[in-house]
Amino acid sequence: MLNDSSSWIGERIHPGQIEKYLDANGDDFIPDGVIAGQLASEECINAAGDKARVRDIIAKSLSIKTLAPDETATLLNVRDPEMWQEMEEAAGKVKKAVYDNRIVTFAPLYLSTACVNNCRYCGLRTDNQSVTHGVLSLDEVKSEIEVLAGKIGHKRLVVVYGEHPKSGIDYMVETIETIYKTRVPIPHRPGRDTAIRRVNVNAAPMTIEELTALGKAGLGTYQVFQETYHKETYKTLHPHTTLKGNYRWRLYCMHRALEAGIDDVGIGALFGLYDWRFDVMGLLYHSIELEKRFGIGPHTVSFPRLEPAENTPFISQSKYIVDDKDFRKALTVIRLSITHAGMILTARENAALRKSLIPLGITQTDASSNIGLGAYNKAKGREIQESTRQQFILGDTRSLDDVVREYAQMGYITSFCTAGYRCGRTGECIMDSLRTGAEGKFCKLNAVVTFREWLDDFATPETKAAGETVINKEIGELQEKVPKVFDTFMDYYNRTVNGERDLYF
Ligand code: SAM
Ligand code: SF4
Repeated sequence: MLNDSSSWIGERIHPGQIEKYLDANGDDFIPDGVIAGQLASEECINAAGDKARVRDIIAKSLSIKTLAPDETATLLNVRDPEMWQEMEEAAGKVKKAVYDNRIVTFAPLYLSTACVNNCRYCGLRTDNQSVTHGVLSLDEVKSEIEVLAGKIGHKRLVVVYGEHPKSGIDYMVETIETIYKTRVPIPHRPGRDTAIRRVNVNAAPMTIEELTALGKAGLGTYQVFQETYHKETYKTLHPHTTLKGNYRWRLYCMHRALEAGIDDVGIGALFGLYDWRFDVMGLLYHSIELEKRFGIGPHTVSFPRLEPAENTPFISQSKYIVDDKDFRKALTVIRLSITHAGMILTARENAALRKSLIPLGITQTDASSNIGLGAYNKAKGREIQESTRQQFILGDTRSLDDVVREYAQMGYITSFCTAGYRCGRTGECIMDSLRTGAEGKFCKLNAVVTFREWLDDFATPETKAAGETVINKEIGELQEKVPKVFDTFMDYYNRTVNGERDLYF
């Protein structure tokens, strides 16, 4: 058991850093009753007049505007399968307009499975003695990077921390700095080395002061999932005696992050805890609030679905399990509602389902994932899942190479670009270019160069061949679409072919 943590817990929540964001009546921005009313008001969308309204809403999505809550509620109430078909097609078009055919991959890296909370659905909850609770040492972190960056070829990570004094802000800063500093050899390319270039963080809500320190460590995106926006349900899942039991401390953590200067934030809801339609509305309200107050919407939206976990009976008892059909609808409506945001689909879902959901507008997926503590080093690239060492069981454990090949065969280019936050293309300054589609075109140049780099360093011959088909098509298109920078682009591309690394616009 890790040390007693009660005095640390007592000092975590700063009420002043919640109250300052409430409205004049002391309310937060999630109006539960209003949302319930919006979802109930349009029971069924089938008639011709209703369809015209749905098509007007779709047209608004296609102009890359955030929908209003009543518009999203209307989409959620559509019953006609043909209208859902139209909505799915529009969702794919929204993604294409904003992000083109790029897709980004990352790996989750669990640095701490120690947690003081007791979320009923989570294998890492403090009362679950069937699971190992621990933190990685800095040497163990470096060993994980050797596999993730050196052997698999990842450039981006989401590092994950349980909420515990052993993995508080000092540990987070130390581990992030260690990851950025660690250069590792590429074992099968003698003389070449590589590194992780972007570290995103998934961790509990923090104070503004801690978030300022986290920002200085150079994180990419700061992710926190609200789990469910429905207050009564939230209460039943997170004991009020725990830190996570404070709904508003969590709800306002992105406000604090943005105030602390972290301008790249990711929101999410864990589907399966409450009515999925309510939580889609919650994500939209959250996005609208951030944009209204800070001029910056969430960079990403995540929608993990509840998965089985060791010794966690709640999961099979939940009344709100979301089936594949409804999950598809949820993703479609999120894509049409929060049009500028990236959408992250994780390896909780199986490979076949992931393939079928990507055309709805997914922009990021993980690959070769392993969520046990120290598991990459242990697995050495082989598939390994030990239920007693991890939070839940994954559905897709394919290698990065397999995933990249599948994307190439589907016509997508896997971007290993990490330029955005390294040259300030984040936050408010990126919102307009996302809306106009400029970001998609600009990032394509970096996507092609970094994909070339990855194919040369890490791909199997089969994946390399599939990837080169995509690259050749892209180069042909870039010549026409961006003639002014094409020569510079080709210079970067050829230098990469000749062995230079980490070139970006
Ligand atoms: N401890 C931090 C927190 O709760 O914010 C961050 C890490 S937590 C390990 C990351 C996310 O995993 C949670 O926000 C939750 O949405 C998700 N999660 C927890 N239990 C899960 C389960 N059984 N199946 C799928 N996802 C789960
Ligand atoms: Fe801890 Fe996060 Fe799991 Fe809750 S979801 S028990 S806070 S690791």
